[in-house]
Amino acid sequence: MVILSNGYYICDECKLKYGDNALAQKCENWCRKHKSCNLEITKHAIK
Ligand SMILES: [Zn+2]
Repeated sequence: MVILSNGYYICDECKLKYGDNALAQKCENWCRKHKSCNLEITKHAIK
């Protein structure tokens, strides 16, 4: 997970951006394990 200076968090695997640390971590864990994205998690990503 990458923490941006503007307070956002990036999933290392899929590069989606989140405003929440816990969600970004959850996304990264999922992406790494399943090699795909979980819609329930990615719908919280910031466009
Ligand atoms: Zn991800």
